[in-house]
Order: sequence, then C-alpha cells, then structure tokens
Amino acid sequence: MLEALKQQKLADNLASIRERIAAAALRSGRKPEDILLVAVSKTVSADFIEAAIQKKVFHFGENRVQELLEKYDILGESCNWHLIGRLQTNKVKSIIGKVTMVHSLDRLELAQELQKRACAANRTIDCLVQVNVSGEQTKAGVEPEALFPFLQKVSLLDHIRIKGLMTIAPETDNPENIRWVFRELKQIAVDTGWEKLDNITMQYLSMGMSNDFETAIEEGANIVRIGSSIFGARGR
Ligand SMILES: *Cc1c(COP(=O)(O)O)cnc(C)c1O
Repeated sequence: MLEALKQQKLADNLASIRERIAAAALRSGRKPEDILLVAVSKTVSADFIEAAIQKKVFHFGENRVQELLEKYDILGESCNWHLIGRLQTNKVKSIIGKVTMVHSLDRLELAQELQKRACAANRTIDCLVQVNVSGEQTKAGVEPEALFPFLQKVSLLDHIRIKGLMTIAPETDNPENIRWVFRELKQIAVDTGWEKLDNITMQYLSMGMSNDFETAIEEGANIVRIGSSIFGARGR
C-alpha cells in the first residue's frame, strides 16, 4: 500500500493532467476521451502503479523490457503495457502477448523479429513507427524520407499491425520551439501514402510528454506519454 500522502499527491497530479489534456483536446476540436493517456511508469514501483490503476489509469509505458516484465509479473493483465523505449531484437520473444503496443519500431530487423515471434505465437502485434522528425543524432527513429519505403516493407509482415506513428521532440524550455515537430509528424501521417498498403492505419499519433503534451495535442496527438508530471521526478 502506498502511504496516504503519496496517494493524495498522485490523485492531485492525475486530476490536473486530465484537466489539461481535456482542455487541449477541446482547443484542437476533439473530445477529451479521444486522447489516450499512457502513464510512463519507468522507475516507479508496482505499488505506485497499482494506486494509479485504482484511479482509473489503465495504460502504462515502460522503456526497458526487463522492468516491464518484472511489473507484468506482479500486475499482469490488470492494465495495458506499452513499450516506449528502444527494443533489442533478442528481447522481442519475451514481450509477445504481454505488450499492448510497441511505440518504438524503428528498423526492419526489429520488424522481422516481431513478425517471426508473433507468428510463432499465433498472434499479431500492434506497433507504432518511431520517426526521427527533429533529426537529432542521438534520437532513434526512421528518417521521414525513409518512412514510406519502410512502411512498404513492414506492410508485407502480416503479423504486425502498424497503428500510427510516434516521435520524441527535443528537450526545450519552451514548447513553442518544438511545435513544428508535432505538426510535422501529423503532416507525415497524412502524406505518406500508406492508404494502399496492407496492415497499416494511421489511427494513433503518440507524441507529447510532461513538458510538451498540450502543444502535442493541439497539433494532433491522440496518445500522450506522461511520466514525471504524474509520478513525480525520477531519481535515475
Ligand atoms: C520517459 C519517457 C516519457 C515521459 O517523460 P516525462 O518527461 O517524465 O513525462 C515519454 N516518452 C518516452 C519515450 C520516455 O522515455
């Protein structure tokens, strides 16, 4: 059990985040319930996650497979797990059937491994393609110019369902500086020409974190990945 003070802080944070998500959704002509909140629970204990589930958060994002699996063992199917960080091919087998969506599909080799393992388990796996919109060297993701040829190849892998795109914006003090990144991802989703391809839709745009989610929603995000504003600053 989480101590009362932490419970209260979590409740306050969630109420505030939900309010801000709703306001940003309305500003962009959408309904609050159109935006999916993925609470990023990396470094957060299972106790804390359980408290969030009681407050009706049902989607959690982890960036490390090992950590996701440890929490899955405790909390299992009581919530949905999203893998939002870099996925090594040798870890793919362990997440099949446990993860609701992989947000970080960024290379063909990974797609081929997901296909192979999902096929062996007689399942399909939902993925978002991570796009490196900002062009930062340190960021993972398919380059925007390479996205269509990438989608063409992944489209042939019939155990993968591409549900949309994901991006991570550069860090900044002022979200206005990175509004273009979100606008660009939305434009890419509209422009790619994926309509003719099998197994691909652009249902989701996963963009926006604690410091920039309102801007991302204004530009079309319908999944936001929010960690520290819900659970507090991470020690790591
Ligand atoms: C950690 C992380 C987040 C959440 O970041 P906060 O600033 O804590 O909201 C979102 N997306 C990814 C890919 C992350 O690794």
